[in-house]
Amino acid sequence: MSRISITKRFGFESAHFLPDKIYGKCERVHGHSYQLFVTVSSEKLVNNMVINFSDLSVIVKENIIDKVDHFLLNDVFPEIKFPTAENIILKFVDILESKFPDGVFLEKIKLFETANSFAEWTK
Ligand SMILES: [Zn+2]
Repeated sequence: MSRISITKRFGFESAHFLPDKIYGKCERVHGHSYQLFVTVSSEKLVNNMVINFSDLSVIVKENIIDKVDHFLLNDVFPEIKFPTAENIILKFVDILESKFPDGVFLEKIKLFETANSFAEWTK
């Protein structure tokens, strides 16, 4: 069955560090202007939409952006020893997967750490 998806983009500023010499300069505390793309899908439209863009926005802002914007990611997620883009994305998937209405599925998350570097999770 075909599915249609929608994507919303979010920005947040956070600091992090990767506490091991193998990560080179990333061992030091530094910041990124992260760009987060969240894609959700459904098999059928409700009110002609997968989900209202503004509802998607509220869900991601309340559960993710408000918790990480202008914070140190190592403090926000102490259970993640190495908050790489890959590990942060897995955490975001964990947090978001249960937050959407019935029939709406988290399909993809893309997290840009810099303009040219991103990690991507696909269901
Ligand atoms: Zn970094």
